[in-house]
Amino acid sequence: MFYVIISDLDGTLLDQETYDYSPACPALAELKERNIPLVLCSSKTAAEMIPFRLEIQNRDPFIIENGGGIYIPKNYFSTIPLEAKNKNDFLLISLGRAYPDLQQALEEITEKYSLEVESFHSMSREQLADVSGLSLDQAQDALRREFDLPFRLLSSNCSATQIEKEAQRRGLRLSRGGRFFHLSGDNDKGRAVHQLLELYQTNCGEAVQAIGFGDSHNDLSMLQEVQIPVIIPNPYSSAPLTHELPGARKAPAAGPTGWNDAVLSLLPKIDNGNLSGGS
Ligand SMILES: [Mg+2]
Repeated sequence: MFYVIISDLDGTLLDQETYDYSPACPALAELKERNIPLVLCSSKTAAEMIPFRLEIQNRDPFIIENGGGIYIPKNYFSTIPLEAKNKNDFLLISLGRAYPDLQQALEEITEKYSLEVESFHSMSREQLADVSGLSLDQAQDALRREFDLPFRLLSSNCSATQIEKEAQRRGLRLSRGGRFFHLSGDNDKGRAVHQLLELYQTNCGEAVQAIGFGDSHNDLSMLQEVQIPVIIPNPYSSAPLTHELPGARKAPAAGPTGWNDAVLSLLPKIDNGNLSGGS
């Protein structure tokens, strides 16, 4: 059996407030020791995820912008799909709609309904830092988006539901984050995970079992795709996921502390090859 770990970042491997991951270091070291791949799967951009990957010395594929794209290190797999394109040190499989398409759709919708919006497309890093609390460098990386266009609605004569319908008419999706609306293609973490696990299966020649870690609703499709879903409790979340995933394991604590405990408690079962669903 070949095991793969799939993990969300914010509120899961990273502390929701401080972004600290140090409580997870013992488990990260154990995974490295066993050569168990750790696939990071986040709503963040590649520009935001690559420095963190380097920091934890992770060399596995990663999923960006809520499943908009899969980044695979070159030479990681011997067989890769034809649609994978060269992107610096990686091969990129694009699953989402390209950023220029999203910009154009938002412009059309804005014009049709005389909306006043402020989108990432038109914002400087200073403006984003100002409204988000990110540092200037973080804001710069957050603006380097490929498959998801966040925007704020400054004034409008129509409802979010009407905007959502316009997005759907164009084969797009409108979602609401903490501070921003997000316009994206019809992608999600689950579809990206499904495709990546097929690649592992094709390339490693043995049965693959994936263990997924997530804390919030945008992890649901990913947790439904893996064989062993693990919910990281999030005291800030209004949707605890336990209802949608009744068979999932639940980590004993929030953020990287819970992540560490859950991984360490699964490892003996992985070592013995007797990992199965349920808690
Ligand atoms: Mg999260």
